[in-house]
Amino acid sequence: MTTVGILGGGQLARMLALEGAPLGVRFLVMDATAEACAGQFAPMVVGDYTDEAALAEFASRVDVATFDFENVPSESARWLTDRVAVYPNPRALGTAQDRLAEKTLFRELGIPVPPFAAIDTRAELDAAIDAVGTPCILKTRRLGYDGKGQFRIRTAADADAAWQALGAQASKVGLILEGFVAFQRELSVVAVRGRDGEFRTWPLTENWHVDGVLSASLAPAVVEPGLAETASTYARQLAEALDYVGVFALELFCRDGELLANELAPRVHNSGHWTIEGAETSQFQNHLRAVLGLPLGSTRMVGHACMLNWIGAMPEARAVLAEPGGHWHDYGKAPREGRKVGHATLRADSTAELAAALGKVGAALGREAQVAPVIARLQDG
Ligand code: ATP
Ligand code: MG
Ligand code: MG
Repeated sequence: MTTVGILGGGQLARMLALEGAPLGVRFLVMDATAEACAGQFAPMVVGDYTDEAALAEFASRVDVATFDFENVPSESARWLTDRVAVYPNPRALGTAQDRLAEKTLFRELGIPVPPFAAIDTRAELDAAIDAVGTPCILKTRRLGYDGKGQFRIRTAADADAAWQALGAQASKVGLILEGFVAFQRELSVVAVRGRDGEFRTWPLTENWHVDGVLSASLAPAVVEPGLAETASTYARQLAEALDYVGVFALELFCRDGELLANELAPRVHNSGHWTIEGAETSQFQNHLRAVLGLPLGSTRMVGHACMLNWIGAMPEARAVLAEPGGHWHDYGKAPREGRKVGHATLRADSTAELAAALGKVGAALGREAQVAPVIARLQDG
């Protein structure tokens, strides 16, 4: 029986194992902590991603390796590649790990991006603020997630505070300054490419963030015609340029009808969780099919879906389960502030039904603010 190894044992690995079980494959998860929530469904190798003995054990027990965690050191990914098939390839992973490399690739491919500049010193920050313009955002090049490692600069006078906050990171993970995009919407396209180059995207998704963390996703996004096709074209260009195999998400800003690329997540993505119930084939199932060299499933969706993230602690499941298209996902994690502990997906045949279901669930859980922007979009476009 084929064993898929997953580096990282969080909820993405957990959902890969759950969705992949019907394919008849086994899983082995590697994570630094034995309590990782994927461990409830798959055997584990506990060890750091730089621990050669743990990596060697992992490699000896799997037929193919993939990632739940996008920041596995690229040297570890390369080391594994010499011993076992690894998807996505280390070059694709390495590019997506570095905001500078990623944005440079977007630009080379003609995919619009906000202005950006790499920064190593305090003096370069001043020069970059001049070049990029204000407002802008200083970000770490590597290791940022959920909006961590970012500082918003409103005017040039904020440069000192920005350097105070992130300057020490310049020599460790690098810094990048990006122009602030006054977007009307945040969108993402989740895409999959097979080992034979077959490429598919799921319908374009609109995302809402709170404090830098994804709060809600709506699919299909309610946008002017043509945007979804443009997003798919960008995703395909990236996948082909990186010889990417597996699922990835391209995060996009939509400003005045134009798409600008924000970042590429080299893995299954939170904004694609709705595909478990909302699409013919989920992102998790298709990721596994891709890395195993199996035919990809249809990414067609039926009706409309909204995913709500549960951050910090799980709410009461009853209101969601009472909805005909309500689905519950508890990741089995201990509650902790800011932590993604689960999500719900509501699916309906029409936008009106989805809006009604969201209204009921929001009221029952006291989460009116979380569902309000989605309902407004469904009602007013
Ligand atoms: P993720 O958890 O998605 O990996 P991250 O920490 O890598 O997040 P980004 O996606 O770059 O960070 O930024 C988080 C959020 O901050 C974005 O979804 C967006 O809402 C806002 N943001 C980031 N960059 C910009 C920008 N240049 N202009 C406007 N808003 C931005
Ligand atoms: Mg990111
Ligand atoms: Mg992001």
